[in-house]
Amino acid sequence: MNITVIGAGYVGLVSGVCYAELGNQVICVDKDQAKLDILRNGAIPIYEPNLQELSLKNMAAGKLSYTSDLHRAVQLSDIVIIAVGTPSLANGEADLSYIDQAADEIAEAMNGYKIIAVKSTVPVGTNERVRDRIRRLTSERFDSISLPEFLREGSAVQDTLHPDRIVIGADSQSAADTMAKLHAPLTDQIVMTDIRSSEMLKYASNAFLATKISFINEIANICEKVGADVTQVAQGMGYDNRIGHSFLKAGIGYGGSCFPKDTRALIQIAGHVDYEFKLLRAVVEVNQDQRFKMIRKLETIFDGNLQGKTIAIWGLSFKPNTDDVRESPALEIVQHLVNSGAVVKVYDPIAIPNFRRMYGEDGVVWCEGALEAAADADALCLLTEWDEFIHVDLNQLQTVLRKPILIDGRNVFKEEDLAGTAFIYYSIGRPSLN
Ligand code: NAD
Repeated sequence: MNITVIGAGYVGLVSGVCYAELGNQVICVDKDQAKLDILRNGAIPIYEPNLQELSLKNMAAGKLSYTSDLHRAVQLSDIVIIAVGTPSLANGEADLSYIDQAADEIAEAMNGYKIIAVKSTVPVGTNERVRDRIRRLTSERFDSISLPEFLREGSAVQDTLHPDRIVIGADSQSAADTMAKLHAPLTDQIVMTDIRSSEMLKYASNAFLATKISFINEIANICEKVGADVTQVAQGMGYDNRIGHSFLKAGIGYGGSCFPKDTRALIQIAGHVDYEFKLLRAVVEVNQDQRFKMIRKLETIFDGNLQGKTIAIWGLSFKPNTDDVRESPALEIVQHLVNSGAVVKVYDPIAIPNFRRMYGEDGVVWCEGALEAAADADALCLLTEWDEFIHVDLNQLQTVLRKPILIDGRNVFKEEDLAGTAFIYYSIGRPSLN
């Protein structure tokens, strides 16, 4: 099939590359010239395992190209997939301006029947909005499809090639069948819904996962007070098939470009129909509070005064194996420490350039290695569970720190890992060790 993907970001780029890998003819369109230059030179503008190899391979096979010429790309395609960003507006609603713009540009390029699919996460009713905008500008025939995306950054290629399910929201049987055929090589689990249900399904999925995280974080907070260990609690809970182990890891909360904005957007979607989504409001509030647990622990350790203390930060991305720092807990934690007068030494294997772009330079010491960041620090805070940190030599680590204080915001170390060391160890929802 001939496919155009509009928006070569974390979702559009991975999807485009994977559609080409399935044997389709794919054009990825983006407005960002710097991104396109990187892609055309055989590199990729984001960190995502296996993506570069597949991009190179499919470019070389003539199945994949990158362009800013949306008009020509749309004219050459039977299927147009919109994968532009839908960031939060100040009031929490999804900003649909990129979607609107893409819809108008598609309409102007229409030269015959096409399927127009929205892969971006969009509020209920947005596919109808896209359809109306396009209809106003063209008399060409087209069908609208809602095609929500469920990939996870850091394993996006794997998730796209082996999805748990593909959701297709449609009101045209023939367009739905075409989209099912496109995705058939990936999975047998193709869920057909109406368009509004498909749009809702995406938000409901993210909101549910966010709820699991905030739930276990609340249990962790209670565990700390009653002397229980949340890791053992979650482990035992997860064996129940009705609960499952995934998303039951206590820590400093979720971040990233999806859960924070999608939970806020769903609260707004509910609000527009006079429904107060009380549970989700609490999920967001718990998550916001959770990232400051680490700060509160530090303040307790240092009698409320962080002025002049050197604090090492390991991990800036919102999770490992990605360079994405959008709404990463690290942004607020680092800012808070700097404001408290601490000297903040930070290290992340991949995400420092993105963090610098988003955070700025304000009061931070950038380090090129984990031990360099830890050197002479009064305490070390682990914010992202990169493998490099999990496998650190703890004996060596304790020799470089000024004080062997370790605050593990992701519960990566076990009691036996720390046995025989002098670490004063704090984690989330587990007894402290010292
Ligand atoms: P992104 O910001 O990484 O990428 C969006 C891209 O679209 C940018 O490169 C931008 O330059 C481009 N763009 C915007 N308007 C354009 C236009 N008119 N023409 C051409 N290019 C245009 O965003 P993302 O993380 O890939 O997310 C895209 C959508 O997918 C969002 O709605 C998001 O909620 C959803 N989503 C994201 C993830 C994820 O893990 N990142 C997972 C599932 C769903």
